[in-house]
Amino acid sequence: MNIIISLHELQLIDNSIVRINRVLENLRNKMSTDPEGVQLLLKVASVRSSIEAINTELTKVTREITNRQIKYSQNDSALYGGKISSSKELQELQSENAHLKEQIPIFEEQLMSLMVKLEETKSVETQLAAEIELHTDQRSQFLIQLAEETAIHKQELGNYQSQRSSLWETLPQDVQTTYTSLRKAKSGIAVTEVKDDSCGTCGADISKSEIQQTHGGSIVTCQGCGRIIFAR
Ligand SMILES: [Zn+2]
Repeated sequence: MNIIISLHELQLIDNSIVRINRVLENLRNKMSTDPEGVQLLLKVASVRSSIEAINTELTKVTREITNRQIKYSQNDSALYGGKISSSKELQELQSENAHLKEQIPIFEEQLMSLMVKLEETKSVETQLAAEIELHTDQRSQFLIQLAEETAIHKQELGNYQSQRSSLWETLPQDVQTTYTSLRKAKSGIAVTEVKDDSCGTCGADISKSEIQQTHGGSIVTCQGCGRIIFAR
């Protein structure tokens, strides 16, 4: 086979290998990261800490109510127990109880609204748990699909790699060296195709005689970008 045709074919194979490796890299990333799942777990953590805070507040308010109720009934017993005769003392007890009677409903109202808030937050937690379950199911399906795609692309990659080695062996060593160093220096593209008498990569003019030389199997490089010219 004409060396230029082989080099062009080699370039096409290498392009495919690069493309498949990119696809495989992309698949690996998709398999290893789960931003949606992480978002859901963060939401659960935040909801749980809210529930904890509400429970702490509930305990506190309940204690405020209980303490006042105890105090109220102690005062009540003292008032009607007959042991206290000082009218000043009795008046103080009465006024303290009147104050307690006003305070207790205020705390009871706080307690009610905290309980409502707790119910609402718990229902958000339940909803999130359902979302996580659904997400986990979908994620496993997705991972299976990604694994299948990976297997297909690995197979394809293997085919290209074996085609490449067979073709590589047919090339003289100096041509191999030229191709390898050009690929390295020119962003992976060592061979450029001529389109409408100009370089398909950089657009520089390619003369008819240059095209003829490549048809004869000579390595001619583009005057503009230095890549090996291939013309059909
Ligand atoms: Zn060029």
